[in-house]
Amino acid sequence: MTLLSVQHLSKSFGGVTAARDVSFTLERGEMLAIIGPNGAGKSTVFNMVGGQLRPDRGAVLLDGQNITAASPQKRFRLGVGRTFQVAQTFLSMSVAENVQMALIGSRRESEALWSPARTRYRDDAVALLEQVGMAGMADHPCSALAYGDVKRVELAIALAGQPKLLLMDEPTAGMAARERADLMDLTASIAGAKGIGVLFTEHDMDVVFGHAERVIVLVRGRILATGAPEDIRQDPEVRRAYLGDEHALERPKGLSPT
Ligand code: ADP
Ligand code: MG
Repeated sequence: MTLLSVQHLSKSFGGVTAARDVSFTLERGEMLAIIGPNGAGKSTVFNMVGGQLRPDRGAVLLDGQNITAASPQKRFRLGVGRTFQVAQTFLSMSVAENVQMALIGSRRESEALWSPARTRYRDDAVALLEQVGMAGMADHPCSALAYGDVKRVELAIALAGQPKLLLMDEPTAGMAARERADLMDLTASIAGAKGIGVLFTEHDMDVVFGHAERVIVLVRGRILATGAPEDIRQDPEVRRAYLGDEHALERPKGLSPT
């Protein structure tokens, strides 16, 4: 069954229609990017899937279940995860402790009470850190990490909730080009192995064209095009939508994809 089905979502803020009749699907293990100029409605669509925003019209189905009216917490329990920035207050905690907190938060209280919490969560946290290549840093404070490593920990924290669907709003913002590619390679391999569907918004066209299996182009709240990265890149309408910023759709010249 289709993992995520977004059907005819619309959302207005006062006079601004941020999303109009937006429909798409996402399968297990698929990497789907939403791109579009600033103000196109990417975050609005994203937040209607995550439950932070209620649509004016339309529906969101997860595994066939209508979750349009569900709270973000309910969606989280049903398998909708998202990456969050490691909170400032948690920077003093170790890498493993941050993931342990996420594990405790994501499990039912009864389970937390009955399990030998300390060792159990520690082992599970280290296992998750292994998946993102951060087990060796388990006992370092998060404040001591390089930015790219913090992003890996954020991914481990999101995975602690055992999501079926992972929402990532501009996951690579502020990262260097090489780190961006690494993070998205990692995300794609974990998503593929676990069958997690990933919906991400992204400014960086290298990340989009290098890592998305399908791309949705949103312009003024409407879907202008949906397709494979190469088709999207060639699409004249898409290129027109980026007019004045045509180079956004090109790969930078002279850079090898190492
Ligand atoms: P994107 O993420 O593609 O940059 P957004 O979804 O953030 O776009 O915004 C789409 C449009 O909706 C913009 O015109 C923005 O100003 C407007 N908008 C978004 N959120 C709100 C809000 N909470 N209140 C009022 N207007 C909003
Ligand atoms: Mg946005």
